[in-house]
Amino acid sequence: KPVDQYSEAEATKALADLRARINQYREAYYTKDAPLVEDYVYDAAYEDLQALEKQFPQLVTPDSPTQLVGDVTLPGFTKVRHDIPMLSMGDVFSYDELKAFVTRLDDNVGETVAYNAELKIDGLALSLVYQQGRLVEASTRGDGVIGEDVTRNIKTIKAVPQKLPQPLDVEVRGECYMPVSSFAKLNEARESRGEPIFANPRNAAAGSLRQLNPRITKERDLSVWLYTIVNAQNYGITTQADALRTLSEWGFPVNPNGRVCRSVEDIDQYISEMTPQRQTLDYGIDGIVLKVNDLDLQAQLGNTVKVPRWEIAYKFPPEMAHTIIRDITWTV
Ligand code: NAD
Repeated sequence: KPVDQYSEAEATKALADLRARINQYREAYYTKDAPLVEDYVYDAAYEDLQALEKQFPQLVTPDSPTQLVGDVTLPGFTKVRHDIPMLSMGDVFSYDELKAFVTRLDDNVGETVAYNAELKIDGLALSLVYQQGRLVEASTRGDGVIGEDVTRNIKTIKAVPQKLPQPLDVEVRGECYMPVSSFAKLNEARESRGEPIFANPRNAAAGSLRQLNPRITKERDLSVWLYTIVNAQNYGITTQADALRTLSEWGFPVNPNGRVCRSVEDIDQYISEMTPQRQTLDYGIDGIVLKVNDLDLQAQLGNTVKVPRWEIAYKFPPEMAHTIIRDITWTV
């Protein structure tokens, strides 16, 4: 039944059911790194919840999944506070919705907004803090404000610089991921030992990084792509594209597929070039991200409680064919 035909009593019941189901999915995904359902099933339930809450804003509760950044912190890890919260990201599932986002923002701003388009890496968010150019703290996103201290684990990942070329005090953020090829090998090995296999590279990365024993992390092949400099303006940086260039100069791995898009046609072109690459890249991507390129404009647009207003993820459709190919690879 369409949401605009619900009575308030029906909506209350439907919201409670949806939230309970979504919270069960979240617990499995974020806490146990073992999802109960494919992402598109979760995304569909989440979209239903958003639609109902939009129709009945008086029924939105602060503990609704639409108001919270997902992850929780696991017991045993020291907690780290993110002074600048690590947020989630708004998403759309069709090109029309993406275009509507772009048009709305252009109208709000009063001019054609330029975006830095990037791949949406399917891993887990990471914060790295450097003091005097030395890595002193690494943490997960957690609930956005409180994350897990994974410094010892991160120090086992070769791609993460321990020391920067300059003695900078800086926090950078990015994604920790497991290459698809390493994920397949890890699962083969686990299967042969009779251990449970990971559902996908994202869960394998999260399960491998969030280990109390860093020696286990060291045995897993994890890597990182960095994409954010916190308070980038303090370093004379004015755009997201500049931030990526600077991260690269500082010695961080930066995904080579970022590109400035100055029109809807540029965005079109980016999506049609990147979508097929999903099948060939050795890391999981689940969409593309558009970020307002101008950092001052980002700051003006600000954030909701959960997501920045200056970025949006365009999610790829579910990846049936790829999953099947992977299954076959494991069994031969
Ligand atoms: P999200 O993962 O969709 O988006 C936010 C995250 O994107 C950031 O925290 C960052 O880690 C990541 N990211 C990757 N590339 C990036 C880039 N280039 N720039 C900036 N950030 C980048 O949001 P979320 O709230 O963490 O998770 C929601 C998603 O997780 C859902 O869409 C769903 O697909 C999945 N999920 C699945 C289940 C399940 O049961 N299958 C349960 C919960 C969540």
